[in-house]
Amino acid sequence: MSDTIEKVKCLIIGSGPAGYTAAIYAARANMKPVLYQGTQPGGQLTTTNEVENFPGYPDGVTGPEMMLQLQAQAKRFETDVRDGWITKVDFSGDVHKVWVHDEKEIHADTIIISTGASAKYLGLESEQKYLKLGGGVSACAVCDGFFYRNQEVVIVGAGDSACEEAHYLSKLCKKVTMLVRRDEFRASKIMATRVMNTENIEILFNTETEEVLGDGQVVTGVRVNNNQTNKKHDIEATGFFVAIGHKPNTDIFKGFLDLDETGYIINAKPGTSKTNIDGVFVSGDAADHVYRQAITAAGTGCMAALDAERYLAAKDAAFEVSTPTYN
Ligand code: NDP
Repeated sequence: MSDTIEKVKCLIIGSGPAGYTAAIYAARANMKPVLYQGTQPGGQLTTTNEVENFPGYPDGVTGPEMMLQLQAQAKRFETDVRDGWITKVDFSGDVHKVWVHDEKEIHADTIIISTGASAKYLGLESEQKYLKLGGGVSACAVCDGFFYRNQEVVIVGAGDSACEEAHYLSKLCKKVTMLVRRDEFRASKIMATRVMNTENIEILFNTETEEVLGDGQVVTGVRVNNNQTNKKHDIEATGFFVAIGHKPNTDIFKGFLDLDETGYIINAKPGTSKTNIDGVFVSGDAADHVYRQAITAAGTGCMAALDAERYLAAKDAAFEVSTPTYN
């Protein structure tokens, strides 16, 4: 344990579009933000090749490049960007306490949580290989579907996300093959019916992914297994989409913040970034299982910084009123 406790006005946890946007706003409001980058500096976008739907980039930009630019913009206003991640918090008292790597203790007047969410993957070696190569594996149809126009793709999953993404892909791609591991959907009836009624979506029930096939650089197909008959076959495809859910990175906040059953942080006041703890705000995918876009994360990052600034201003005003002045 370190014996010196650092005190900061605004601590930002996470370095995706939400965290850096919060940092830009907080820094320009003179809140001297300290930002811890977390275990995946730059967040989920660093695994995306080309970002074409973030306004302001008419020619597109790669995910890693965009994150470097956001970081540079936050640093320009003197955000203190640090390596490392928060391993523990204590929001039970008046002071918001966090620990970096279980050692360094920080007390923050305001905290902005931008820890994001992680897409779940199947974990197959071949899936991870082409994901890392940027060669045709994706967990975001809205981000990457455009690159597969008029091509054939495969999507895994049977929940609302998988149905929504399969339907989105069906409008761009020649054919979408959907792999459902049980004999029924998990998705709501309306979403499942929609994919079943879409002509260029083929649904294979009781079907699991054996291997993502490729030429060493890009995906060329998927080997699947019918778990009832044990028959395997190969499907030709240039894209392999995984839509089996997300896990919000909120484990360290359990017991302090209100979370839903999946772990998403619940906004104490809808339409704001407030959590159930005064002075602790949330932005980005840690509280959003619906939109999950870089631009929406950035928007809520801005909201969190403005809410934090107003919280501090109200606290200062209350302090001035309650402190007698002597002439
Ligand atoms: P869900 O947890 O609802 O669904 C995950 C799906 O992935 C399940 O069908 C599951 O199969 C399947 N799956 C999990 N692991 C594997 C695996 N290893 N191999 C193959 N399949 C696998 O996640 P979603 O992201 O779909 O939805 C999360 C929440 O967000 C839900 O509450 C949903 O309703 C909501 N949502 C709402 C939307 C809307 O209303 N527009 C849009 C998107 C999401 P199995 O069924 O066999 O367990």
